[in-house]
Amino acid sequence: GRCFYFDETTSTNAFMLGHASELKSGDICIAEYQSAGRGRRGRQWLSPYAHHIYASMFWRLNNDISHASGLSLVVGCSIVKSLADFGVEGLGLKWPNDIYLDHKKLAGILVEVSNSSAQKTELVIGFGINMSMSVEQGELIDQPWNDLSGLVNMPDKTELLIKLHKTLKADLQLFEQKGLEAFLDRWNKFDLFIGREVSLLMAPNSVNGICRGIDEQGALLLENEQGVTRYLGGEISLRAV
Ligand code: ATP
Repeated sequence: GRCFYFDETTSTNAFMLGHASELKSGDICIAEYQSAGRGRRGRQWLSPYAHHIYASMFWRLNNDISHASGLSLVVGCSIVKSLADFGVEGLGLKWPNDIYLDHKKLAGILVEVSNSSAQKTELVIGFGINMSMSVEQGELIDQPWNDLSGLVNMPDKTELLIKLHKTLKADLQLFEQKGLEAFLDRWNKFDLFIGREVSLLMAPNSVNGICRGIDEQGALLLENEQGVTRYLGGEISLRAV
C-alpha cells in the first residue's frame, strides 16, 4: 500500500475521493493539518496543526453498495480495538460512528462513497483522533471533547497510525468475509447506550426509547411502546435522555 503524507490539505477524505480511480485498497492519506476537515452532514471536524491524527484509507469493496451497510460501525470497532491494544481505558462507542473517552468525544469517523458501480464500491474511510488538544483549540468544539494526552501511557502517534492501518485492513477483510455479525460482540462491549433511554434526532422529529444495540445490518434497535424498531444511519443523531 501507499501513504500520501501532507503537511496541510483541505481534507484527507477530499484528497482520496479526488484520486479514487488510481488508488488501491489500503492506500492511506495522512495530514498534519486540515483547512476544511469534515464531519457528517456538512459538519466540521476541527483540525488544528497540533500533532493530531487526520487520516483516510481507501477501500474497494468487491460488492455493490448494499454490502457496505454497517461498515462505519466496523471502523469504530477497529479504532477502539487499536486504542485498547495500547492500554487505553474508558473507551466507548456511540452509534453510528463516534468514539468516546470517558464519555467525551475523542475521535470521529466519516465514510464516504466515491463511486458505486454495479460490481464495485469505492470507499474513503476518514478518521480524526485528538492527541493533545489545547484548551483554546477545544473551545471551538461545541460538545464535550477529550484527547489522549491525559493518559499515563499515551500512545506514540506513528505507532498508533501503523496499528490503526493494520487493524483496519484486517477488520475490513473480516467484514467482507463474515459481515457485521463478526463484530457484534465487540460493538456491544463498547456501546455506551445499550439498555439506556435515548432520543433519536431525525430533524424535525425525534423518537425516544431504550437502546437495544445493533443488528447485523448496523441498524440501531430502539424499544418503546411501538415495540422494537430498526433505524439505519443517514440523518440520525443519538442523544442520551
Ligand atoms: P454527534 O457527534 O453530535 O452525534 P455526528 O455524528 O453527526 O454528530 P460527526 O460528523 O461525527 O458528528 O462530527 C462532527 C461534530 O463533532 C462537530 O459538529 C463537533 O460537535 C464535534 N467535533 C468537531 N471537531 C472535533 C474534534 N476535533 N474533537 C471532538 N469533537 C469534534
